[in-house]
Amino acid sequence: MEANLKLMCGTMVVSELDSGGSAINAPPPDTERSLSMQPQFTISPLFGDPRLPVHFWARVRVLENGCWEWIGAQIPKGYGQIRYIKRRQILTHRLAWEELSGPIPDGLYVCHHCDNPPCVRLDHLFLGTQADNMEDMMLKGRGRSYD
Ligand SMILES: [Zn+2]
Repeated sequence: MEANLKLMCGTMVVSELDSGGSAINAPPPDTERSLSMQPQFTISPLFGDPRLPVHFWARVRVLENGCWEWIGAQIPKGYGQIRYIKRRQILTHRLAWEELSGPIPDGLYVCHHCDNPPCVRLDHLFLGTQADNMEDMMLKGRGRSYD
């Protein structure tokens, strides 16, 4: 059952890429950023990637288990939060996904393979539905606190 859900999740990501990205990309914000150059991560993400601001990386530490853990402001569940350019407060793992991978389709969540909410390492993240996320949490027996 969960395998099907994961497959669905992956299929959605792939189909997004197959469309070339331009159709689903939101109009570019009034900055010099160009996301479309890097629609997908095929190699290990780069710590300190310049597509994310320096003040972002300054608040990320590398853990022994490979996680890149946000150590700045967090919301209660442990997700990192940052004020980004002129935008709203944004969750750091979602920011990392948007900047390094591409837009997050409506209704999808950025979930953690590593079950570590403050982690912002791209290859520890995946797009999923709320159901995926809940099931993922249940499968991993998430109940512990990161506070
Ligand atoms: Zn992680």
